[in-house]
Amino acid sequence: MGNTDCFKKNYGNLSKLYIVILPFTNVDIATAAKYPFLKEASVIAEENGADIESLISSESYSVARNRGLERVLDALEDSEVSYHSLMSEFDCLMEIMSYPYARMLVSSVNDRYLNRRYALAESVRMNGLLIQDDNQTVAHVAGELKVNAVADDNGLRMHFSDYLKFSSRIKSKDWKLINTEVEDGYVILSPKKFDRVLQNALQDRIESELPLNLPETFASYLKDDVEKVTNALNEHKSKYSPTGGGPIELEYMPPCMKAILAQAHNGINLSHSARFALVSFLHALGMDSLQILTLFSESPDFDESKSAYQIKHITGELTGTDGYTPPECSTMKTHGICYNEDNLCKSEKMNHPLTYYRIKSGTGWKKDDKKE
Ligand code: SF4
Repeated sequence: MGNTDCFKKNYGNLSKLYIVILPFTNVDIATAAKYPFLKEASVIAEENGADIESLISSESYSVARNRGLERVLDALEDSEVSYHSLMSEFDCLMEIMSYPYARMLVSSVNDRYLNRRYALAESVRMNGLLIQDDNQTVAHVAGELKVNAVADDNGLRMHFSDYLKFSSRIKSKDWKLINTEVEDGYVILSPKKFDRVLQNALQDRIESELPLNLPETFASYLKDDVEKVTNALNEHKSKYSPTGGGPIELEYMPPCMKAILAQAHNGINLSHSARFALVSFLHALGMDSLQILTLFSESPDFDESKSAYQIKHITGELTGTDGYTPPECSTMKTHGICYNEDNLCKSEKMNHPLTYYRIKSGTGWKKDDKKE
């Protein structure tokens, strides 16, 4: 009995599912399951009779839905979507279909932080798989991500413009273009570095695609899983919030922020860096633009329209982003706004005003990758 016959026998209710190897590519169903964002993955799904309506409503796709939910929960819990070894074509198809389902869940919650975290987790998963794959597959994935790359006997190379575009956020010195080997406009990269750049490319792509515009009729099918994701997201946010999800307590504020707040209340004109530090710090603690504006309104020289614009810019409300990260202690010192250092400030582990708040409030020594 061939693979296809065996598959049909084992999964009679999904008898339209059979393996498809696309012409002109090496992408089989197992590869598509590893990289479900590939165009070939959706073609394979379609060729196997899978469609979105069945995915959200049919019992036949409950495995894919559970796995889709797991993808999103993995993103929140571990910053990386887990990988299961897939033994059968059925497993592979469910894995492929779990990807659009996860994206539908994320889109339904429609939270910028979740979008970013999910995009990161999918791209970290891909990175872990690429490193085990051959150069041709890696180059194929690069092509899907619109990264100009070459894979041949000499290894992997990436056009310098794409290298710059996707590696600029990696701060380490050895990633600077000047420290790489460039030949005919292509940067010669080790597989590890090449895959790391592709990770950023996939993260950017997923982030740019979310949220998806879903038909209203989908909401009732997705409701239960969306609720699970929303609950997990709220729990995650309060766990990693410097306030532990509670209200902001003045007594836990670091001396620099207390001093800047006092200046604002006393009508002292704040420097740009002080205003930026205070607003971004309060936003990181969970205050929204309106709450911060209300706080500034107590200042004698309060100018509502000017302040509102500045605050909304810093909190990201104007730009549709998460806003700016509050400055570290070293930056505060450079700008001369590290006021009244106390013993905790002078301790070795102190490097960030948010860390100060966490320690004082007892919410722990946690690194929140969203805000710091
Ligand atoms: S050491 Fe850091 S937390 Fe303490 S006052 Fe200076 S900037 Fe603020």
